Amino acid sequence: MGKFVYGPVPSRRLGRSLGIDLLRPKICTVNCVYCQIGSYPPLPPVRKRFVNPKDIERELAEAIRPKPRIDYITFSGSGEPTLSSDLGRLVNFAKSLRSAPVCVLTNGTLLSHPDVKEELAAADVIIPNLDAANARVFKKVNRPHPDIKFDEYLEGLETYAREFSGKFFIEIVLVKGMNDSEEHLEELAARIERIDPDGVWIGTVTRPPAETVAKPVTKETLGKARRIIGERAQTISAFHSDDTGSFYGELTENILALLIRRPETVENISKSLGANPHEVTKVIAQLVEDGTIRRRDMSGKTYFEYVKN
Ligand code: SF4
Repeated sequence: MGKFVYGPVPSRRLGRSLGIDLLRPKICTVNCVYCQIGSYPPLPPVRKRFVNPKDIERELAEAIRPKPRIDYITFSGSGEPTLSSDLGRLVNFAKSLRSAPVCVLTNGTLLSHPDVKEELAAADVIIPNLDAANARVFKKVNRPHPDIKFDEYLEGLETYAREFSGKFFIEIVLVKGMNDSEEHLEELAARIERIDPDGVWIGTVTRPPAETVAKPVTKETLGKARRIIGERAQTISAFHSDDTGSFYGELTENILALLIRRPETVENISKSLGANPHEVTKVIAQLVEDGTIRRRDMSGKTYFEYVKN
């Protein structure tokens, strides 16, 4: 696994996805209560260079050289990719490889910026988040930087969906007691109707989230949300062992080899293995669920430790 390019990883939405992480560690304009990477203060929506784009291009070209079977090249990773002022250049580079369609996962808060609009135009698929139908819920669930205004964010989504020539999907994360009431889901459905995306994916919190107050909703609530939002919506479940391919098998072994020696945080595991924090978190969640490791909170940090038999 490289420093910026990881996978291909199996994704329920995108098949086999080769991931590109432009920002490490987490750099984001919001601080979602359910974020798996950790809780960090949100940054203002100011774009800049975070890493030398040539390093990413070199890694991506190397990852593509053996012609791996991939369905998408996906810009995502540990933060908000549109904050990188090199995104346009890198999307164009990924397209020039003619290997797979290019997808960008985004929190959507910069979609109203003209330069972001222009740079994303070459992508094939854009998947922004929309967890809140109003400023109050946005503040509670996504905890944006004060320079981000809900109305501009929403307007950005609506305009972008109209103007973008590729596929535009919305992703919603439901958090128990925060954005899952029937009233809020109906308000969200009306917002989505105006945006008119090609599809909507509804998911919930996967463990361990940044904040322990962020709890997943039940399958029934996911089903109710799907009915309220309508035909274009489908639910996505959390990571389960049937997702595991050789990528996760190898990552699981490497994580266990570390945790057998000492408890570690997700951040340290990702750094030590050069692995993407989202992917590490998925494996950790599975290992916690099957009792191989357990969570332990110490000095304000969350560690994971191996459970000896
Ligand atoms: S979940 Fe994504 S958008 Fe939300 S804080 Fe984490 S990195 Fe940012």
